[in-house]
Amino acid sequence: MLLYSSDLFEKHDTGTHPECVARIQNVNAMLKEKGWDDRCVRPSWMAASLEQCRRNHDSGYLEQLHRWSRENAGRVESDTVVSTGSWDAAMVGAGAVCDAVDRLWAKQDKTAFCAIRPPGHHALKDAPMGFCVLNNVSIGALHARSLGFERVLIVDWDVHHGNGTQNSFWDDPNVGFVSIHRFPFYPGTGTREERGAGAGLGATVNIPVPAETPAKDFLAMLADETERLAKALKPDILFLSAGFDAHRADPVGGLTLESEHYEEAGQWIAQLANDYCGGRLVSLLEGGYHLQKMPECVDAHLAGITKAASSSSPE
Ligand SMILES: [Zn+2]
Repeated sequence: MLLYSSDLFEKHDTGTHPECVARIQNVNAMLKEKGWDDRCVRPSWMAASLEQCRRNHDSGYLEQLHRWSRENAGRVESDTVVSTGSWDAAMVGAGAVCDAVDRLWAKQDKTAFCAIRPPGHHALKDAPMGFCVLNNVSIGALHARSLGFERVLIVDWDVHHGNGTQNSFWDDPNVGFVSIHRFPFYPGTGTREERGAGAGLGATVNIPVPAETPAKDFLAMLADETERLAKALKPDILFLSAGFDAHRADPVGGLTLESEHYEEAGQWIAQLANDYCGGRLVSLLEGGYHLQKMPECVDAHLAGITKAASSSSPE
């Protein structure tokens, strides 16, 4: 497994915001303490190029984001803070996802986890939203398409609807998107009726669930709907927007998963990649705001992926 982690993500200073520097500090400490740093391949990588970002974002927005960061602008949207280090952190985060895609394309590895921040799945083509400035998973999926992966499946199990990602691929038949999320809840989108449009109709699948939904129901619905879409889409690569804010202890989520459910879910998603796309899986950090439980969930997630990966037959 490829592991992307860096203390550079600590430069995205958001002050007392829930999406704070301590999140990634604690993840990085866990990766070291639990031995993931030693067990995984840890590539060095470049920041995303403007060309890679422009596949998903408007040039004008990228220029504005750069300017905000240079000016240490602070709160640029009701929930999103941009500081001096934000541009570099965001570009290096998106770059990690693209580098993972490059290495999967070159068959250097099959699975990757990107321990990055700021998160990305709410970021719109032309605006920041909900703690997110660059849509990392959308940039990664479009990079995969540019290399020659024909069809891409994105699974999003963050407790919030991945509205930015949904918008990126709304009418795209080659990029499937499944999101399970609490509803009604921030950002207010993600109803069953939102299924994509035009050639992309049906390639977007939303699974809205009420607060306090039992974990076993949450995971069963996710598996059911994702496998149905995977069967129809036949993806060449799988992406996971891995938020960990559906954990029972999360201060914002209101759902009921425990840390060990993320091991089960990690094993399931990696097995899905084995079954449908040669094991190719790029997982990246989105939300998760409990400073102790979130790193514990990442640890469980990596253990789950490793279990499934070690049981897969060589290609
Ligand atoms: Zn979230």
